[in-house]
Amino acid sequence: MTIKDKFGRPLRDLRISVTDRCNFRCSYCMPKEIFGHNYEFLPRADLLTFEEITRVAHVMAHIGIRKIRLTGGEPLLRRDIEILVRLLAQIPNVELAMTTNASILEAKAHALKDAGLNRITVSLDALDEDTFKEMNDADFPVQRVLDGIQTAADVGFSPIKINMVIKRGVNEKDILPMARYFHGSGHILRFIEFMDVGSTNDWRMDDVIPAQEIVDIIHAEMPIEPIEPNYQGEVANRWRYKDGGGEVGVIASVTQPFCGNCTRLRLSAKGELYTCLFGVNGHDLRSMIRAGASDQEISERITNIWQPRQDRYSEIRSSETSSLPKVEMSYIGG
Ligand code: SAM
Ligand code: SF4
Ligand code: SF4
Repeated sequence: MTIKDKFGRPLRDLRISVTDRCNFRCSYCMPKEIFGHNYEFLPRADLLTFEEITRVAHVMAHIGIRKIRLTGGEPLLRRDIEILVRLLAQIPNVELAMTTNASILEAKAHALKDAGLNRITVSLDALDEDTFKEMNDADFPVQRVLDGIQTAADVGFSPIKINMVIKRGVNEKDILPMARYFHGSGHILRFIEFMDVGSTNDWRMDDVIPAQEIVDIIHAEMPIEPIEPNYQGEVANRWRYKDGGGEVGVIASVTQPFCGNCTRLRLSAKGELYTCLFGVNGHDLRSMIRAGASDQEISERITNIWQPRQDRYSEIRSSETSSLPKVEMSYIGG
C-alpha cells in the first residue's frame, strides 16, 4: 500500500527519535548556552516505550514505510536500545538504520548487529582533535569515534556512512584530510551543508559552504565524477573517485533542496509526528495510543496527516522563513 501527499510524494521513510538527550553539545545542533545544566529534557514517562514505538512502526509498514532510521538526540543513550532494534528488525521488508555520534559504539556495535540492525551512519566532523572538540563541545576525542567505526566494521556493518557537517571557517580545512582518510576505506563520507534547523544554532547563510564548493575542493586533489542515485528520494548526491577509491556524498539541503522527493516522516521521542524537519507543530500520536486506539485508527490518523502534506521548506527558504519558529533537530531527530 502507498499513501501520497498533496504533491504525490509517497510515505516511505520513518525517522524515529528515541531520546532528546545527548552527551555532545555540537554547536550546530545543541549549543551549550541553550542546552546547559538547567535544560529540562523529557522525563522518562513522556517517552514512547519500545512497545509503543514498535506498534507504530508495524502500522506504518502496512501503509508503505520501507526504511526506518533510529536517531535522536543520541540513540545509543537510550537504555537497552538493542532491545528496540531487535523488535523493529522483525518487521518484514523494512530496512533498519541508525545515525549515531559513535561515542559508545565500540561497546554497542556487536549487540546492534546481533539484534538485526542493517546499516549504521556515524557523525564525525573533523580528524583534527581541536576542531572536533570545538564542534562537539564535550571534550570528546576523535580516536574513540574512529574506534567505534572500526568495531562496527569488524562486526560486519558495511559500508558505513560518515556524516560531516561543514561550517565555514570552522572545519572547512578538514574536508580534504577527511576525504583522504576515508578514500579507499570502503566507508562513504558524506558532506552536509550546515542547515538552519531549529532556532538555537545561530545559523547564517555565510556559514554555509555550498556543496559545489565542497565538490571542487575534493576534485582538485582527487578527481571525482557524479553517479546515479541508488533510489528515488536519496538525499545525498553521489560522487565516485575516478581512481576507484570509492564514493563520497554531498547533502546540499540548503543550496540544492530536495523537497520534491521527500518521503520522510519523523516521530519525536514523545510520540509526535512531524511531516518536515522544519515543522513547528507535531501531531500527537501518543495520547491516542495510550487512550487505547486500534491499529486501524492509528493507521487512519497517519494517513490523514500525510495526505494533506505540502511541506517544502528548503525550496522556499528565505530570510523570512529562516526566522520563523522551528523545532530543534535533537528533538525530532536528524
Ligand atoms: N546524535 C546522532 C548523531 O549526531 O549522529 C544522531 C542525531 S543528529 C541530530 C543526526 C545528524 O544530523 C548528524 O549527522 C548531525 O551531524 C546532523 N545535524 C545536526 N544539526 C545539523 C545542522 N544544523 N545542519 C546539518 N546537519 C545537522
Ligand atoms: Fe548530539 Fe548528534 Fe546533535 Fe551532535 S548532532 S549534539 S551528537 S544529537
Ligand atoms: Fe523534506 Fe522538509 Fe527537508 Fe523539504 S525541508 S526535504 S520537505 S524535511
